[in-house]
Amino acid sequence: MEKVIIIGSGPAGLTAAIYTSRANLSPLLFEGFQAGGMPGGQLMTTNIVENFPGFPEGIPGPQLMEKIRQQAERVGTRFIMEDVQEIKVDKQSFTVVSMIGQEYEAQSIIIATGATARRLPLDSEKKFWTKGVSACAVCDGALPIFRDKDLAIIGGGDSAVEEAGHLTNFAGKVYIIHRRDELRASKILRKRAEEHPKIEILWNKTVIEFLGEQILTGLKLKDTKTGEVSELPVAGAFEAIGHAPNTGFLKGQLETNESGYLITRPNSMMTSVEGIFAAGDVQDPKYRQAVSAAGSGCMAATDCERWICGMYCD
Ligand code: NAP
Repeated sequence: MEKVIIIGSGPAGLTAAIYTSRANLSPLLFEGFQAGGMPGGQLMTTNIVENFPGFPEGIPGPQLMEKIRQQAERVGTRFIMEDVQEIKVDKQSFTVVSMIGQEYEAQSIIIATGATARRLPLDSEKKFWTKGVSACAVCDGALPIFRDKDLAIIGGGDSAVEEAGHLTNFAGKVYIIHRRDELRASKILRKRAEEHPKIEILWNKTVIEFLGEQILTGLKLKDTKTGEVSELPVAGAFEAIGHAPNTGFLKGQLETNESGYLITRPNSMMTSVEGIFAAGDVQDPKYRQAVSAAGSGCMAATDCERWICGMYCD
């Protein structure tokens, strides 16, 4: 019987691992394989992280995650590079079923499975997926097919603007296609986009079709105010329209909000099921920052330690 199983290897899961390791709970961490993106979470596809305290010059996302993972390993975390396909909730204990069907029993679980990029629900989006359409400019933007070409980012949040900036390193021109007349992105990023010579923002536009024969060659846009339809020739289109929490494997056993984010109890990281805790983006539709995810990982670990002691310490 494990004392605690942690599911997820982003900043929340790894921080929970550091704290539960140091509390002698000897955590077993499922770092994932395919489900919900790559092990290490969303920072694995973040070019440079400039807002994580302690790195005044910024740090590449994958490097930051490698450092946090090493820290978790050094204090005793054990890792399994597999997805979890299911958890079974019992009054006495929990069972975590791995993707190869192996079962692991645990006194408690910390869920830190993060969130996955949303995609536009268009048939043509599916047709050109990986043939010019991607949900990750940082992962795919430097591919030869996009070099020196005009590209588009869809969305108006921090991700859209940051990824547009990243694309300017390779692209000819970068269009940000936003459905409103004001970016959601923070002021500093907004200013950066609006003043960048290679970025043009197309306001009040939505993509209604991805165009091309074998590979993407353009977008059909609709003006959200006038209804006018136009075409924009681009060689690549990158969706940056937000994320959905990775909770499918829970099969509805834990309480969520209407968007599927796990609900934790007031002043606690415990979910609706006693002994199961949640941390990071899977329970946070609001802040969604690496540092807040790490903070909530610490909180979940602390709550978990206290709960285990209350249940199992003499
Ligand atoms: P987000 O803030 O939820 O923004 C999503 C954007 O996509 C919004 O502009 C939204 O438009 C648009 N959108 C959503 N659905 C759409 C659809 N069906 N069609 C067209 N547009 C659609 O997501 P995010 O940019 O990924 O950011 C998520 C969180 O991570 C935020 O809290 C953000 O601050 C944080 N983040 C921070 C940094 C940083 O600090 N460096 C970098 C990346 C992300 P509306 O504006 O009209 O809703």
